[in-house]
Amino acid sequence: MLELKKDYEFKHSFRHISPELFVDVDPTPITSAKLIYTTELKKDLGLELLTDDELRNWLNSEERLEGDQHISTRYAGHQFGVWAGQLGDGRAISIGEICTPNKERFEIQTKGSGLTPFSRMGDGKAVIRSSVREFLCSEAMHGLNIPTTRVLALLTGQDKVYREKIERSAIVARVFPTNIRFGHFEYCFHFQKSEALKKLINYTRETFYGAISTQEMLKEIVKRTARLMAHWQDVGFCHGVMNTDNMSIMGLTIDYGPFGFLEDTILNYVCNHSDHNARYAYNQQPSVAMWNLERLMICFIEEVPKEELEAILNFYVPCFEEEYLKLCRKKIGLKLDQDDDYVLFITLLKYMGTLNIDYTFFFRQLASYEVARPETMKTFFDYYGQRSEILGWLKHYDERLKLETIDQRERHKQMKSNNPKYVLKNYIAQEVIDDVEKDQSQKLKEWIFILSHPFDEHPTFEKYSLPTPAEFKNIQVSCSS
Ligand code: AMP
Ligand code: MG
Repeated sequence: MLELKKDYEFKHSFRHISPELFVDVDPTPITSAKLIYTTELKKDLGLELLTDDELRNWLNSEERLEGDQHISTRYAGHQFGVWAGQLGDGRAISIGEICTPNKERFEIQTKGSGLTPFSRMGDGKAVIRSSVREFLCSEAMHGLNIPTTRVLALLTGQDKVYREKIERSAIVARVFPTNIRFGHFEYCFHFQKSEALKKLINYTRETFYGAISTQEMLKEIVKRTARLMAHWQDVGFCHGVMNTDNMSIMGLTIDYGPFGFLEDTILNYVCNHSDHNARYAYNQQPSVAMWNLERLMICFIEEVPKEELEAILNFYVPCFEEEYLKLCRKKIGLKLDQDDDYVLFITLLKYMGTLNIDYTFFFRQLASYEVARPETMKTFFDYYGQRSEILGWLKHYDERLKLETIDQRERHKQMKSNNPKYVLKNYIAQEVIDDVEKDQSQKLKEWIFILSHPFDEHPTFEKYSLPTPAEFKNIQVSCSS
């Protein structure tokens, strides 16, 4: 039997919360699995002793590691604003909770490991396309310093999987401190599993939030969620499926599906093809997160007085606003706080929206702007023409910059470390997918590197930092993954 490195150990703490919350499952390996890529987490997790073949066999459930597990968890949730009843890990299996010598905790879950009791109408499988997207985006978000689930490895298989067309199977191994979602609490509350709910609350608090009260934990969850939303808005990330079962109790970005990064600055942009009511549009995300938090708070009604829950929830808006304003200022290189800064920023966004300006490209260009010298934005104007709205805005910006005390070089440097040059646009993901479909890993490797260093210059990849070519712009992605 395979083993973890010395001083690393498997725990089974989730299993011990309540039998209501998980089932032991029998994974289905994918056929002729190939290990396409392994990240540096292999080392952090104490899996170094495993050869690539052993790691592949473990992640494909063909071999066991001493102390591992095969469980899927039960949760529920609100999907697209409607109570969806019981859900659960329909194709994800937690194969182990690893505790490192530094007492860090990592849960490893393989997504695409076959049917579970929660698969409902699904086939328990994942395809290469969606797995590569999750793989890349997890690392992209991490590179952008945004809390996210991480990835350990990507496997491809030879099984035929039926989506809109026939695709090949894959497994993505993801890593997080815990898989607990708002939906786990919703399951216990709505199905009146009060004993399990109490245990889940205590477990979450003690294991992940330390020696604090339940109220303090909830406040921290509200804070983390608000900050996460501010970060998403800042980089133009649209999640696409912000159902309560896709909300992490740790405030992480989780469950990458039909996500997208803003290309044209369309503030009501909807990246998910199936989101007909635009519920999860870019500019709706902060309020949706609050709605989701409210669903979570309700589950605590037996534990915390109603007025206190309301007060905790009311903390969300100021927390989001404070964080978002801070990020907006950073985005345009402002250090001092001035009353009109937000108006200045929002006015810019509106112009960018009217003119269909590429979000990431513009802010990166602005990071080289010199006061009263619009010609320093030459590349931008070459693309979009001498737009009077932007020229006018730059005049206001000049006035505002005069109040600042840091010098221009320093401002440029700071803006470049806050405005990524590269984000994971859908057409880039597609190029990588096409490569992985051929079982090649070169592009995946290159893009993992670039997306892990999105604020740096990568001269041979310059073209990917330019506005998205028209034929690839604003693609919507379907939910079926
Ligand atoms: P998602 O939209 O990916 O967050 O999935 C919503 C629910 O559907 C979760 O309970 C998933 O586990 C389940 N699900 C999604 N795709 C599949 C699939 N191919 N097979 C089984 N269950 C799935
Ligand atoms: Mg999900």
